Amino acid sequence: MNEYILALDQGTTSSRAIIFNKDGQPVGNAQKEINLIYPKAGWVEQDPADIWATQMGVVGEVFQRTGVPPESVKAIGITNQRETTILWDRKTGKAVTNAIGWQCRRTSEICEQLKEEGWEPYVHRTTGLIIDAYFSATKIAWILESDASLKQRAENGELCFGTVDSWLIWNLTKGKHHITDVTNASRTMLYNITSQQWDEKLLNRLGIPAGILPEVRPSSSIIATAEADFFAGNSIPIAGVAGDQQAALFGQACFHPGMAKNTYGTGCFMLMNTGNKPIFSKKGLLTTIAWSDGKNTQYALEGSIFIAGAVIQWLRDEMNLIRHASDTEEMANSVKDTNGVYVVPAFTGLGAPYWDMYARGAILGITRDTKSAHIVRAALESIAFQTRDVLDLMEEEGGISLKSLRADGGAVVNNFLMQFQSDLLYRKVERAAVQETTALGAAYLAGLAVNLWEDSSMIEKQWKADAVFEPQKTREWRRSKYRGWQKAVCRTFDWTKDEKEMGVSD
Ligand code: ADP
Repeated sequence: MNEYILALDQGTTSSRAIIFNKDGQPVGNAQKEINLIYPKAGWVEQDPADIWATQMGVVGEVFQRTGVPPESVKAIGITNQRETTILWDRKTGKAVTNAIGWQCRRTSEICEQLKEEGWEPYVHRTTGLIIDAYFSATKIAWILESDASLKQRAENGELCFGTVDSWLIWNLTKGKHHITDVTNASRTMLYNITSQQWDEKLLNRLGIPAGILPEVRPSSSIIATAEADFFAGNSIPIAGVAGDQQAALFGQACFHPGMAKNTYGTGCFMLMNTGNKPIFSKKGLLTTIAWSDGKNTQYALEGSIFIAGAVIQWLRDEMNLIRHASDTEEMANSVKDTNGVYVVPAFTGLGAPYWDMYARGAILGITRDTKSAHIVRAALESIAFQTRDVLDLMEEEGGISLKSLRADGGAVVNNFLMQFQSDLLYRKVERAAVQETTALGAAYLAGLAVNLWEDSSMIEKQWKADAVFEPQKTREWRRSKYRGWQKAVCRTFDWTKDEKEMGVSD
């Protein structure tokens, strides 16, 4: 009998379900958009009932489309948008408020307050995170502070908190299991990633009763059973759970220290496997649990780039230099280099390793013969330069040298970008054949736990690149290109800072 894994991929903008076969190939998928709610500027919410309904809707659809009988699904793997916070009533299973989305900035003030009180070093060394409104901790605190009756109910043990994985598992098990996995726990800003326990000090400071927290389980092990009612009378083990970026790292089979993946989307998300001990960055990278199977825990350094594919959207929508994102490749190849032009897309400031929220974007090195193709090429190159900034930092802080970079995400179809990335890093860049790396990671985590795959070496063999880009440029080329980038980035520092503060007088 054929055996399959069902992967649920609950993302920010859509819920998806994909069925994978034993070869790690998707045999079918279904996807449904999900609403984002913006009650105020900077606030982002979602309806938890909608998250659940769309997720189960696509599950039904994928079974219908593929004709795979539910009894041949050996396990379910779940991957999800991280940090998004849901509170629900333990008795009724109904959410008590909308989910607060990971992007929601409403708790910025609570974060500022924590920083003022000097919590930053403590938060970093326990949770691996920097204090930020992204993470669940301050979102839970906000909900409980905003409604005294909810606070009371939380203290009485009547409420459950969960990230999206917990919410799906609770519903899939009809309220039998209130659990999460270590990767999702490690994004709450409440979880000690070394001792692997909820942190009492942080819970106390934020007024969060420990009783509302889920039990934390490994990312790869049978942790619950989905109710038979949902699968035509077949109960199916839930055996893999991981937050989306960790799942993608697993789906890219980055099982060894020094292996990294970069997802080239609107922004970039980079994770590097650093082995079985957490490494704490001094320059703003996050430390996170990559996965655990109950016996071993792997850690990763994580860095993100705010503006990656978004710079291509800007060329198209604001500058009108291209009509389609895909035009950039031909234009970039139509000139032999950027003719000394650099685009620094610091639209919202600069992240790691510069961390300058006052920086703003710039196009530098323009001369009379600068053509639009030079600017387009420089914009593409900026994605690769920013990636190198973060990877250099990961290597430096991790004390590990990058073995290879595995690429996924919407922009990796651009061969120019991939080749330039390889040239700039002097490393192989491997573009994944299965681009659904997030869902595939969840499937692999689940399949390993139920022995569909005996061990990770089987997965390593299965993992395939659709193209491998090898470095072709000289050291001198690399050095001068990258120096130019660093010079250009420095020119954008402090741009929006008060002129008086900068010592500029009228
Ligand atoms: P997200 O998941 O963040 O929404 P995707 O992974 O779907 O993003 O990737 C979309 C991004 O990839 C867009 O920002 C787009 O500009 C960029 N992109 C798409 N095709 C190309 C291309 N051929 N060359 C460069 N960038 C591209």
